[in-house]
Amino acid sequence: MEIVRSEVLSRYPDIVFGMSTRQGGVSPGKLGLNLSFNVGDERANVEENRNRFFHALQISESSIAFPAQCHSDKIQTVTNAGRFESCDGLMAQKENVFLAVSVADCVPVFLFDRNTKTVAAVHAGWRGTRSRILERAVQNMIEEFSVNPRDLVAFIGPSAGSCCYEVGEEVALEFTPEFITESENRKFKLDLKSANRSQLLKAGVFIENIEVHPSCTICHPERFHSYRRDGKASGRMLGVIGMKLTVEEEVQKL
Ligand SMILES: [Zn+2]
Repeated sequence: MEIVRSEVLSRYPDIVFGMSTRQGGVSPGKLGLNLSFNVGDERANVEENRNRFFHALQISESSIAFPAQCHSDKIQTVTNAGRFESCDGLMAQKENVFLAVSVADCVPVFLFDRNTKTVAAVHAGWRGTRSRILERAVQNMIEEFSVNPRDLVAFIGPSAGSCCYEVGEEVALEFTPEFITESENRKFKLDLKSANRSQLLKAGVFIENIEVHPSCTICHPERFHSYRRDGKASGRMLGVIGMKLTVEEEVQKL
């Protein structure tokens, strides 16, 4: 199974981070390693796929928090696993609670502050990006957990690239020109990764602490699911971030 890892997040041994790909699953055809129950895939297949992915990360599904993902700009602070309605991002300061984001083209972003031990996971499609959900996430981390953005590290995962992500004029007009390339016939390509990266910079995150995965999900069919390419029945990938219990804490719990 191929798991996407992050160089900036892997500097911290107490962080668990990984993002699934299309590879290594039991679902038929294009679905492969699909981790969503809502795309018409057999339940048993999704369960087996999820088992494989969570096993590879050495975490249990019962310790994962899922945001409902409704293209909002809301970030929810959580202290336990489960499903959280009406939000597109989660924030936590608790070991053994892992935050998930489900994607196929939308931008998944994962944040960690080593000083306050705070993690966040954010789902940013074009609507979330337009409403600056990532900037809001950093702001919430500052206000709620006294995070200093200069200490944050961030990973922007594989998602629709500016090579392929075409939008209509009405969407293009919602973004500043630096993230838009006009092609022929009044079609526009939108660079969602760069738009999100610039929100991190604006929020005070250092440029050297931001890692952007280079791959575009749309033009890498072997590796990644893509809604734009495969439609509604496209599989979904999960990215997961959280903090492990340290050995001492595990001993104390016994
Ligand atoms: Zn592409």
